[in-house]
Amino acid sequence: MSDRKFGVETLCLHAGQLPDASTGARAVPIYQTAAYVFDDADHAASLFNLQTFGNVYSRLMNPTNAVLEERIATLENGRGGLALGSGMAAQMVALLTLLENGDELVAASTLYGGSYSQFDVTFRRMGIDTRFVNPDDPENFRRAITPATRALYAETIGNPLNNVLDIQAVADIAHDAGIPLVIDNTFATPYLCRPIDHGADIVVHSATKFIGGHGTSIGGLLIDSGKFPWDNGNFPSMTEPSAGYHGVRFHETFGDFGYVMKARMETLRTLGPSLSPFNAFLFLQGLETLPVRMDRHNSNALDVARHLQAHPYVEWVKYPGLENSPYFDLASRYLPKGAGGIMTFGIRGGRDAGVRFIESVQFLSHLANVGDAKTLVIHPASTTHRQLSDEDQIKAGVSGDMIRISVGLESIEDILWDLDQALSSACG
Ligand SMILES: *Cc1c(COP(=O)(O)O)cnc(C)c1O
Repeated sequence: MSDRKFGVETLCLHAGQLPDASTGARAVPIYQTAAYVFDDADHAASLFNLQTFGNVYSRLMNPTNAVLEERIATLENGRGGLALGSGMAAQMVALLTLLENGDELVAASTLYGGSYSQFDVTFRRMGIDTRFVNPDDPENFRRAITPATRALYAETIGNPLNNVLDIQAVADIAHDAGIPLVIDNTFATPYLCRPIDHGADIVVHSATKFIGGHGTSIGGLLIDSGKFPWDNGNFPSMTEPSAGYHGVRFHETFGDFGYVMKARMETLRTLGPSLSPFNAFLFLQGLETLPVRMDRHNSNALDVARHLQAHPYVEWVKYPGLENSPYFDLASRYLPKGAGGIMTFGIRGGRDAGVRFIESVQFLSHLANVGDAKTLVIHPASTTHRQLSDEDQIKAGVSGDMIRISVGLESIEDILWDLDQALSSACG
């Protein structure tokens, strides 16, 4: 059975799990425990020495989380994964496992707002400088690399601009410089795109979005391809004895699991943003239906994009699945199954019409999230980006007329009906 290359739908249901050996439970049990009983003193010592890998304490590992980690690593075609308490925690742990005071990061400027602030404010305070570049031209990443740069960072599909990255081109630039490419694959999910297949070294997710899929839980993951040559001289903390874990050399000792082991035993262990096993269970539930949900998100979103594009009260639509999108060719290459569920559009009448539109929707939910089974709408200029000046809003790609919609799984006729009646109330 192990030689067979299973399809993604099968892996979403089965990867990383065997029915529970002691109870026969078919569903993944929620191991709601903080710690695990040692067999004896020798067993305890060998666990702490990392000679035996096993459960010690749920800040570090948990059997429910382990199934999620294995499943997502398999789906992303990676070597190992680590579950974390949020998407923000996943990217923080992914990067702080690599970057130290004095190191630099080169990141796309078109990131999720929270990610931008994490790098621009929090990491800078820690002595890690980020240079932000327009990701549309991959050469911009190369031009921003200095001898201190230790990683490149970008999103498969940018939030909220819906720009698609040329992953392979940016990965080649990273590898020319001897550094890894880290990709936030939240909007695409491993069902629509597997960045590791296009050269990415590390993938991070906010599981809060499509992986969970039902807007119930905050969580995140990091996945390592296991292919980056950490002993190339640029990453002494991977090859030298670790002060954070009694002298272990992560690359030498754990080989292609070295990065995930360092992320777990050093970064997660000392910073502590663990995922609760209950949330891991909910993400596993979400993953079971990811392929069928994403297919419907894709088709509903494409219908909505085409409908809005032809609508008299809509000025523009940004969705990489539309033939006239500047990202259509990249989307065809990197997102062949569909461009996902999220788009932005411009409403005729600008900011005031945007506010009226949001106040007029009936079952579409006005909230700050994406990737739910339910359709979600938000007017960024009056909510997520309202603290910014008009000028800074434009820099962030947020115009006053912009509405973001995360198209859900309701009947498409009903979604279009609610959009139409809200557009009429706002602009009619
Ligand atoms: C939501 C989001 C995050 C942050 O994830 P949380 O789970 O909210 O911490 C990071 N990146 C992208 C692209 C996101 O949409």
